[in-house]
Amino acid sequence: MSLIVQKYGGTSVGSPERILNVARRILETQRAGNQVVAVVSAMSGVTDSLIKLAGQVAPHPTEREMDVLLSTGEQTTIALTAMAVNGFGGHAVSLTGAQAGIVTDGFHTKAKITNITPRRIHEFLDAGSIVIVAGFQGESFEGQITTLGRGGSDLTAIAVAAAIKADLCQIFTDVDGVYSCDPRIVKSARKILEISYDEMLEMASLGSKVMQSRSVEFAKKFGVIFEVRSSFNDQPGTLVKHETAGMEQVVIRGVSVDRKQAKVTISRVRDKPGVASRIFNEIATVNVNVDMIVQNVSDAGTTDISFTIPADELPKIEKHLGPIVTEIGAGGFAAQAGIAKLSVVGIGMRSHSGVAARMFELLGQAEINIQMITTSEIKISVIVDEDRVDEGARIVHAGFGLDEPDSPGNAFLEPAAVGGNGLQK
Ligand code: ADP
Ligand code: ASP
Ligand code: MG
Repeated sequence: MSLIVQKYGGTSVGSPERILNVARRILETQRAGNQVVAVVSAMSGVTDSLIKLAGQVAPHPTEREMDVLLSTGEQTTIALTAMAVNGFGGHAVSLTGAQAGIVTDGFHTKAKITNITPRRIHEFLDAGSIVIVAGFQGESFEGQITTLGRGGSDLTAIAVAAAIKADLCQIFTDVDGVYSCDPRIVKSARKILEISYDEMLEMASLGSKVMQSRSVEFAKKFGVIFEVRSSFNDQPGTLVKHETAGMEQVVIRGVSVDRKQAKVTISRVRDKPGVASRIFNEIATVNVNVDMIVQNVSDAGTTDISFTIPADELPKIEKHLGPIVTEIGAGGFAAQAGIAKLSVVGIGMRSHSGVAARMFELLGQAEINIQMITTSEIKISVIVDEDRVDEGARIVHAGFGLDEPDSPGNAFLEPAAVGGNGLQK
């Protein structure tokens, strides 16, 4: 008998028929001789409508009340799923995050799980029940309802799998697995059979929303091997796990797109110690996540500093930029939305060179202008105009041979003599 955690996302539980489909799958898994914990999301669109609803009654609802509101989405699904299982003659009980023993810190709307006491889960499993747990939510030490950030049901599933030492953790979604790029953008994208935690983490953080990035971080930390697969068929999906020897042979594992970015440039900033710290400390006080930062070489004692942030955070910092520009004696600032980040990811980049040159060449040939560049050991990201980013993704995907079954990401490269990082790429 195995202990299995299954997570079903919003689309998979998006209608009564789909909830019945999920209930059938869960029951089949149990009847095959396993113990089953199912983590479910809110029905698709529900979390977004609740957020919209909140905006209609108050311009700035408190985050505490947002959590009370948003947690109802998942609470609806656990009850409906348990009812559906029971309707088929099975035995299921639903548990909210708090009832399942999921304890978080007190940071409403983006709480972190601090520990899980799965006593109740075990009791119900031992009594022969299927346990249906609400994703995305927990309870703080102070007894407040909290939520885990968008896409947080993935985190619930991985964390519960770690806490109950599950034999298997399956993330069921509306695609057959993790693809070399979002199949909605690149039709020829291919399913990846195995991917390392680090690559999955980069892809998730760089815009491949198939997994919540914090859940992948958690899986890596606690060694939870998980499979991403479809709730609509029985195809095997993608296994996410620690790096294995063969994985470095593939140079580019995937291409990610992150839209809705904005770029801010502060011009003629005095080139002296403490200025960057002043700018970014000010931005940190309003809790805006800065992503890429580029500082030009100094010219006549001044320099330009550009950085990117999520576009919807722009209004939050715009009113701070004027005063800070005046305070540090800079020339001015310009903010530009409508840009997007395009990235290639692969652990094989550590041991192969020429990846950056090839990516720039492909974009250059298509006359797609690169506005900013950042690299890490296993990724290269560029900022381009949002309206060219899908085309860019398709060109880069094809150019690295990712369309072809037998040469994923390796089409053009020979292993380099030295490990590449930074500009060596
Ligand atoms: P769920 O509701 O099951 O959590 P999500 O909508 O969060 O599902 O994630 C699944 C979606 O992720 C897919 O429909 C797909 O469009 C998108 N996606 C983005 N990048 C990728 C990728 N590299 N591979 C597969 N799907 C991806
Ligand atoms: N319902 C939440 C969201 O839409 C959590 C999840 O689906 O994972 O973000
Ligand atoms: Mg999701």
